[in-house]
Amino acid sequence: MQQTFAIVKPDGVARGLIGDVLKRIESAGLRFKAMKLVHMTKAQAEGFYAVHKARPFFKSLTEFMSSGPALVMILEGENAIARWREMMGATNYKDAAEGTIRRDFATDIEKNVVHGSDAPETAAFETSYFFNAFERV
Ligand code: GDP
Repeated sequence: MQQTFAIVKPDGVARGLIGDVLKRIESAGLRFKAMKLVHMTKAQAEGFYAVHKARPFFKSLTEFMSSGPALVMILEGENAIARWREMMGATNYKDAAEGTIRRDFATDIEKNVVHGSDAPETAAFETSYFFNAFERV
């Protein structure tokens, strides 16, 4: 059993896509271990995406991620990290496979609706960035 960290990004929340995303997670048999809405400050978004500090899109990305509420979650299931990444689709929705969340809903390489950890180490960091022990079931 593995846990991963997921976000419905501010574009997804603003566009009313929470229900669609959660339905796909439930249908895939992944279980929710924690969930809440957060409106990140710019500094909190910079901390979350610190690995991308040197990228040209860092300023724009952290402004976007702090532009409104996002739904942050911990998901659990067998092979959850890879399975959630597969359900999300490629970063650029234009390259994303059919039936993935980004292919179906994203409008932009940056505003791509969802986030998912890419490895166990990042899942551990991202999970503890947002949730304490009392917020996890
Ligand atoms: P992910 O793991 O698929 O989310 O992709 P990355 O870790 O490479 O990038 C993190 C996030 O930065 C992506 O989900 C996008 O929101 C954004 N992003 C990635 N590449 C670009 C880009 O070339 N331009 C812009 N504006 N945003 C990007």
